[in-house]
Amino acid sequence: MVPKSKIDEILDGYDVNDLTIATLCSHSSLQIFHGARKMGFKTLGLTISHDTRYYDAFPLAKPDEIIRYADFDEMEERIGELYDKNVILIPHGSFVEYMGPRRFSDYAVPSYGNRAVLGWESDRDKQRQWITSAGVPMPKLITDAREISEPVMVKYHGAKGGSGYFIARDYLDFKMAVDNTQPYTIQEYCLGTRYYMHFFYDPLKKDGYRCEQGGSLELLSIDRRDESNIDEMYKLGSIEESRRHGINPSFVVTGNTPVVIRESLLPKAFDMAEKIVNRSYELFGGMWGPFCLETVVNDKLQFKVFEISTRIVAGTNPFISGSPYADLIYPGFSTGARMAMEIKESAADGTLKELMS
Ligand code: ATP
Repeated sequence: MVPKSKIDEILDGYDVNDLTIATLCSHSSLQIFHGARKMGFKTLGLTISHDTRYYDAFPLAKPDEIIRYADFDEMEERIGELYDKNVILIPHGSFVEYMGPRRFSDYAVPSYGNRAVLGWESDRDKQRQWITSAGVPMPKLITDAREISEPVMVKYHGAKGGSGYFIARDYLDFKMAVDNTQPYTIQEYCLGTRYYMHFFYDPLKKDGYRCEQGGSLELLSIDRRDESNIDEMYKLGSIEESRRHGINPSFVVTGNTPVVIRESLLPKAFDMAEKIVNRSYELFGGMWGPFCLETVVNDKLQFKVFEISTRIVAGTNPFISGSPYADLIYPGFSTGARMAMEIKESAADGTLKELMS
């Protein structure tokens, strides 16, 4: 991981009144560029092979400039150009996944958030250790596939948008579907309603919902993912029936829809998020900025967190012009704009280094 002292040194060479917000052209980049522009920043799109013509269709979210690289090696070789532009990177799920968490954590451009979180997020065992030791419930873990006695989810490591995951009801199901060449985790399949809650922890804010660490926790929005083909499988009858026709359930994310949760669930949601933030400071120096708790709520109104994403997630994209929650804090603000707001304020009051790694 790039040493914090190196990032601070780079920031010392920056003109903080002329920062550029950059990200990889994918995932939530429209929202990130739109939010950065709204707060008066220059914007820069980084791309390897993505078609970027779609930005022409959305002029308010089009980056001021795009740099095209042949591959991530070239992105690393040309790092000096980003220093010249006083670039602050906004990591998103695809940026980190395509570049690779290890490579991203070595990429010496100031990045919003704590890079140390990557090691705890990308390794499912460490992620579980973090969340459960915070006192937040997760789906039960099955360590020996031969002990599968109820429906389970088999997941491969890393953010894959649910790709390749499968449900197994017994060992035979598991054996027939598993790809042994990749590391995987077996979890209890949790039946309930899924809520993907988009929190934001601001370590510099001194009012609102204060946490033990002294900063403030916000809930900016909640979505539910559209997942193909599981969401529509009922139209063919049961999963068993679909399997008889050679169609297996899959969990590939194709879109996101806005939701709100019943108000009486909010205290539980904040309690979980607060515990996870507090524990992050004890374990690895903290998690700040946007993060998403991916949850299932059962009919006893109990939450289980099946995953945490420790940066902006694509589920915030329905909320480019605000949400029922963000509008009670910063009307009309997206998560992208909220990050830009924090960067702008910290650049103005000399605390930018505290947010960068
Ligand atoms: P991302 O990193 O993009 O969030 P991912 O590839 O890590 O995605 P998960 O979010 O862990 O995948 O899971 C994909 C989908 O599988 C979830 O959105 C949810 O619908 C379903 N799912 C995951 N874990 C469980 C579980 N324990 N019980 C029931 N459904 C689950």
